[in-house]
Amino acid sequence: MQNKERLLELQSVFSRRHVGLLVAMLLFIANYIIMNNGNDGLKFSTCIVICAVLLADIIFAYFSFFHKYVLIMILRFAELIIVGVMISDTGDTGVGGISDVFAVLFYAMFMIETVYLFDLTDNTNIIKISFLGQIPFVIKMVYSLISGGTDNMAQGLNYIIMGIMSFMIMSAICKFCGKMQHYYDQCVFSKDRMLDRAKDNTERINESQKTIRETNEQLGIKKFELEEAYRKINVSIADNNFQNKFLRLLISSFDLNEFSAKARKLFGDIFELEFCGLIFKNKKLREKYDSGIGKFFSEEDFEQFSDFFLSSAFIYHHKEIDSNFIENEVSYDEFPFFRARKINSVAVKAIVTDNSQYSCIYVMFSSQYNLFREKTKLLENIFGQMDIAARNMSNYYKAEELSIKDALSGLYNRRYLNLYFKDNFVDKTHEGRVALAMLDIDHFKNINDTYGHLFGDQAIKMVSELILKCADDNDGTGFRYGGEEFVIIFENKMLSEIIVIIDKLRNDIRSTAINSDDGASITVKVSVGVSAYPETTDAIHTLVDRADKAMYYSKQNGRNRLTVDGTYEGEK
Ligand code: GH3
Ligand code: MG
Ligand code: MG
Repeated sequence: MQNKERLLELQSVFSRRHVGLLVAMLLFIANYIIMNNGNDGLKFSTCIVICAVLLADIIFAYFSFFHKYVLIMILRFAELIIVGVMISDTGDTGVGGISDVFAVLFYAMFMIETVYLFDLTDNTNIIKISFLGQIPFVIKMVYSLISGGTDNMAQGLNYIIMGIMSFMIMSAICKFCGKMQHYYDQCVFSKDRMLDRAKDNTERINESQKTIRETNEQLGIKKFELEEAYRKINVSIADNNFQNKFLRLLISSFDLNEFSAKARKLFGDIFELEFCGLIFKNKKLREKYDSGIGKFFSEEDFEQFSDFFLSSAFIYHHKEIDSNFIENEVSYDEFPFFRARKINSVAVKAIVTDNSQYSCIYVMFSSQYNLFREKTKLLENIFGQMDIAARNMSNYYKAEELSIKDALSGLYNRRYLNLYFKDNFVDKTHEGRVALAMLDIDHFKNINDTYGHLFGDQAIKMVSELILKCADDNDGTGFRYGGEEFVIIFENKMLSEIIVIIDKLRNDIRSTAINSDDGASITVKVSVGVSAYPETTDAIHTLVDRADKAMYYSKQNGRNRLTVDGTYEGEK
């Protein structure tokens, strides 16, 4: 048996096909009635019965109310009985009449349709159907037996035998059909299975492809992450290399000018800078450590720049090691002095040491936007190192200052005089003027001998203070050359000016009293020699020697006087 839904569906298909047959039968009946010609055609009763059967069939198909399994079975059984009765009702015409042929054909059609509704692989169904197929024989046999008489008995037996034969033939055919159906089902089943397998395989392949795609995507992400990590590693290696180089530079250089120049070159390798360098708060020092800022800004812009960045407020606000001023998008409204040079990225480090003389800022200017954004950490590191180095440099300078200054007088010592010459007058010829005065206290030995060494020291102090003041007032530098011998150097001053300055100093010394604790009060006098480049000599390194000789001339010629090199006898 097919499943019930399939059965209802098949029945509907068969029933719809019967519409054509019903129409043909109705035409036949019309012809029969209109032409009144029943000869050589279907019996009228046969037509009416078949029409009624077909109509019932069609009603079944078109009204879902009847779509029930039990009703199908009843309908089929009724159809076969009715048509079976018609076949068996041979009456006078006997088998062979055209009406019977049609009855047999209809019976066959209903029979085939019924067979089709059943599952023929099931033997019970085969037996049921084969029995159904014998309805006409059963009717005939019953009719013959009821009719009585030997002939009828014999005829009844014949129908029994024919019915048995027909049963056997039908069951054989059904069996064969069942096998065919089974074979067909097998084929369909294996085809379905193959299709299912193919579908499964396709799904598996899709699944694998999806996994491969996902894996590829993951690999892509991993590759990207690795590349990113490599990039970061390379950047940090480059940054580390840079920091190492920078650190080496800081350690190796105690000269600010040299450091500034080397740092500028180093920074230039990693940043595109318009300007970088140290700028000192102290104007005098700024000139000394010239970073070139004067040429970078206009006078007016530099003044504005200094007012902000060199202000105590800015420097002390940013004095901590990790406090830097970094701006990656400079606002010209806020910082108008950057407009002219189109500076957009600025980094400033305030370098504050306990010696305020060395307080300064290190600056980096660039026209690019966001120059320091990705390098902020590196910049902070190197600025931090710079800060530490600046403190070391400051200590170094302090130590150096101690080594070049005389403790008693506070003047630079003779060692520094040599360095001063070495640093400032490398060449024998020099662009500017240089004048040198050598002073020696007269008869100092007597003071020591009369008032003691301590008092002598006081006298040296007094003279030194006046020398320091004179040097400060006139842009000169004072040195203690020996015990009670002093040197003052002036640059870019005319000899005539120097003579006036030194003579005033000599008079100041002479008129300043030195008072001892025990009430003694004396004054000292000095003998002075002055030499000048290029006025008295064209060899700058001979200035000390020549001033010494001039001073010696003063000693020899009455003391307490000033002799200018080249103006006395015996001078070459
Ligand atoms: P003059 O130069 O006029 O020819 O005579 P002078 O007495 O100054 O001669 P000289 O230069 O020979 O003497 C210098 C003296 O200065 C000798 C030394 O004892 C003394 N002296 C050197 N250094 C110091 C010092 O630091 N303190 C004191 N109290 N005396 C010193
Ligand atoms: Mg002396
Ligand atoms: Mg002397």
